[in-house]
Amino acid sequence: MSEKDKKQELPSFFQMAKNFGAELSKYVAQGAPNVTQGNYIRRLAACESCPHLIKDKMRCGKCGCLVEHKAKWQTTTCPDIPSRWPEEILVKDYDEKRKRPVKTGNKAPDANKQSEGNS
Ligand code: SF4
Repeated sequence: MSEKDKKQELPSFFQMAKNFGAELSKYVAQGAPNVTQGNYIRRLAACESCPHLIKDKMRCGKCGCLVEHKAKWQTTTCPDIPSRWPEEILVKDYDEKRKRPVKTGNKAPDANKQSEGNS
């Protein structure tokens, strides 16, 4: 039997409530940051093709959360090991002081370094 053919069951109601409470606390404590629209779509696409998704309820079979909401919150992670969501959108890139994601990738050139050769 393939991984997709196995019947996925939800965690117990108590476990789902506990998981959701923990995710909600983290989300609120960090200022309710949401992922970008592009990352939201990428997360949902990963869930759509995941064998743990309970499609008729659109719940993650690993944690019991509604993926439509879970995928939107920047503070959440995919509970599978390894994670099925792209790594660049995980909460480690969150700037607590500025209450927004840290920008990574191409940085603007340092103004001081540009003027070094011109003096
Ligand atoms: S959160 Fe992860 S484990 Fe859960 S359905 Fe989505 S991809 Fe699968």
